[in-house]
Amino acid sequence: MSGPACPLPVAEEGVIERGHGGGGALTSRLIAELFLPCFGVSSAAPLHDGATLAVGGSRLAFTTDSFVVTPLEFPGGDIGVLAVIGTVNDLAMCGARPLALSAGFILEEGLEIARLRRIAASMGRAAAAAGVRVATGDTKVVERGKGDGIYITTAGIGLIPAGITIGPAEVRPGDALLLSGDLGRHGIAIMAAREGLGFEPAIGSDLACLAPAVADLIDAGVTPHCLRDLTRGGLASALVEIAAAAGVELRVDAAAVPVCEAVRGACEILGLDPWYVANEGRMVAFVAEQHAARALDVLRRHPGGASAAMIGRVVAAPGRGRVLAATIGGVRVLDLLSGEQLPRIC
Ligand code: MG
Repeated sequence: MSGPACPLPVAEEGVIERGHGGGGALTSRLIAELFLPCFGVSSAAPLHDGATLAVGGSRLAFTTDSFVVTPLEFPGGDIGVLAVIGTVNDLAMCGARPLALSAGFILEEGLEIARLRRIAASMGRAAAAAGVRVATGDTKVVERGKGDGIYITTAGIGLIPAGITIGPAEVRPGDALLLSGDLGRHGIAIMAAREGLGFEPAIGSDLACLAPAVADLIDAGVTPHCLRDLTRGGLASALVEIAAAAGVELRVDAAAVPVCEAVRGACEILGLDPWYVANEGRMVAFVAEQHAARALDVLRRHPGGASAAMIGRVVAAPGRGRVLAATIGGVRVLDLLSGEQLPRIC
């Protein structure tokens, strides 16, 4: 994964700072300069939301994610639902039908059992709704003060239907860029809960399973070339990563990007850019231009999808990939965040 130049090198004598985990340029550099070389993985293939494994005659998608959100419960969800849906969504972004999850819990001494039961129960309901089984798990307890109640790591496997290949390498000049709904609700809901901010109207997380929408796209004869759920780092980070991985230019019409009034107002008060704020139930889809209208019809039928829109298109890149956003004021070149706009949001 190549990112733009970063002023803070991943130096041997350095230490991990919070921005290192932040869906920004530093995360990309940690992956490219530390993890991939240590694991002997070539960085030549574009990275996606999950790995693809050939098993017998089938292809499995395999992915993992860790969840450290604070607070543990927030308007629209909790860390357990997030841990299920976050991983199921990454499988869906590979076009996979989710099969099974693992769940690893790190629990802090002093955590109320009633709270753990509540979170585990909502996790179970989210898994059942997504049609996926929590098939294996692990629990560790750490001393008081050495954790924040609960950290959860989930991994997931899913079956990729025959003939389906979805990823940055499939993006083509001419593709339409679709956004599945309005931006920023998850990040703002977490921020408001954490800081005790009472926005009117209240903003709940957009936390939602994207697998049904992906399955319906495929069933409607629209196989997206690439999908990406807009989690930490938001729309802007996802587009910058895909443009770099695919080696294309993305031209986005800023006026077409849906942001509800409540989120727009909250972002103004907090000094945040909604394009970089996290979502947990939104994705971008790159589809062949002739499939754009049909794909939008499908996306708009799903929860949160009423404002799904075509927000731009793909053109051949003159050099390395980049993202240009046309605004009233001119054209803006999007970049990865050099730090983290909102920490601990997933
Ligand atoms: Mg993802």
